[in-house]
Amino acid sequence: MFSKIKKAYQLFKSIDFEQLDKLSRKIDLPKAMESFSKLDDKQLKGLMKMLDGGRPKKELPPINGDFYELHLRLSDEDRALQLKVRDFMEHEIRPLVNHYWLRDEFPFEIIPKLAELNICGLTYKGYGCAGKSSLMEGIIAMEIARIDASVATFFGVQSGLAMGSIYLCGSEEQKQEWLPAMQQMKLIGAFGLTEPEVGSGAAGGLTVTARKTDRGWVLNGQKKWIGNAPFADVTIIWAKDVDDGEVKGFLVRKGAPGFEVEKIKGKMALRIVQNGLITLRDCIVPENDRLQHANSFKDTAKVLQLTRAGVAWMAVGCANGAYENALDYTRKRKQFGKPIASFQLIQNHLVEMLSNLTAMQTLVYRLSELQDAGMLRDEHASLAKVFCTLRTRDIVSQAREVMGGNGILLEYDVARFLADAEAIYSYEGTKEINSLIVGRSITGFSAFV
Ligand SMILES: Cc1cc2nc3c(=O)[nH]c(=O)nc-3n(C[C@H](O)[C@H](O)[C@H](O)COP(=O)(O)OP(=O)(O)OC[C@H]3O[C@@H](n4cnc5c(N)ncnc54)[C@H](O)[C@@H]3O)c2cc1C
Repeated sequence: MFSKIKKAYQLFKSIDFEQLDKLSRKIDLPKAMESFSKLDDKQLKGLMKMLDGGRPKKELPPINGDFYELHLRLSDEDRALQLKVRDFMEHEIRPLVNHYWLRDEFPFEIIPKLAELNICGLTYKGYGCAGKSSLMEGIIAMEIARIDASVATFFGVQSGLAMGSIYLCGSEEQKQEWLPAMQQMKLIGAFGLTEPEVGSGAAGGLTVTARKTDRGWVLNGQKKWIGNAPFADVTIIWAKDVDDGEVKGFLVRKGAPGFEVEKIKGKMALRIVQNGLITLRDCIVPENDRLQHANSFKDTAKVLQLTRAGVAWMAVGCANGAYENALDYTRKRKQFGKPIASFQLIQNHLVEMLSNLTAMQTLVYRLSELQDAGMLRDEHASLAKVFCTLRTRDIVSQAREVMGGNGILLEYDVARFLADAEAIYSYEGTKEINSLIVGRSITGFSAFV
């Protein structure tokens, strides 16, 4: 008798009355109960199986690439901004990236929406910029790249390389003219350093020339790989002054005579980013459009130091996106009657990915702390760029591996991360060049040729 009462009590406790109430508004409960009471045991079992597969659903842990909960170090305001960007990327960007990636086109409709987030030029003070920390800037780069590395690259060129050149090397008038409009993304910028024959050796070997004349500066030569250039309103061109041999920066406006841009086609990575091959044929730039505080390559390097840290964060985002996609897939995909995530060898892949991802995250957090403390050195940024882009290559490739054939299909996203990681690995200084920077710093010997 007592056990019957206990069972009845337990049954009563397990009833979700709220759900029951909702259900009663949709169906005639007494009638349904009457029908169920007429079913025999076999029929009841069949019905249960049909409704929930015959066994209670296993609650799986949430998918979270931030395994060490690093976000807890953020203020409530910064965390809210991170989540706002994440939400925007998941709902506004994710649904359209594969479409544009496949077509090698840029989704111009996203620019005003990105601008609304008010995250452009995040660390700069004044000119409409938010004056936030480098850590926050890194987190934003990571959040964007977590969904798409092309959009992160477009944004990095605008907010970092182009705006950063003006912020660090421009006169007050130049900053006033460009930065507020670029912050609102009403004007788009590009950064032209690399040339068809000069990539890694840009520090000493630029061949684009600038000659001062009565008509202004005359620029000649070519620049290759310049992100955003096919549609940019302004492109920063770094050129060698033929008189003093020093590298100077020029604000070249869209449509300037003698400035031609040809879109680079056939890329297998970052296909949404529009890269340009620029030809300068006696392109005249007025003295007012020469970056007034860019006097040598050392000034160009200051911009690169700023953005190289951002590329490390971007790599973390790309790796995070691939890891979370792969984890989700392995929990849903079944083979031999079981989710593949329950296989030991698959879990080994996932744990290796997460270990590397967590190491990368902790490294970039510290990198940004150094930056915010004004202690960032070139070798710090280079080490992070090398480590994170190298590990990202490994993570995206394991993500693809655990997804089998579907890993190479664009619709599953990881194929895009896999391809895009290749470009991030090479731009803003290759592994070799960044390793040489770190090597010089720790040994005291320069191995640059
Ligand atoms: C998608 C994409 C976007 C880009 N966007 C921009 C942009 O917006 N603006 C811009 O200015 N540039 C941009 N770049 C250019 C990028 O920064 C260069 O590709 C990069 O610096 C490498 O130069 P490179 O491609 O000419 O390779 P190279 O310099 O020719 O190098 C080829 C190989 O030789 C190695 N190597 C070179 N020198 C040494 C050495 N001394 N010791 C050992 N190994 C060495 C390199 O590490 C590399 O493995 C972009 C590139 C890509 C792919």
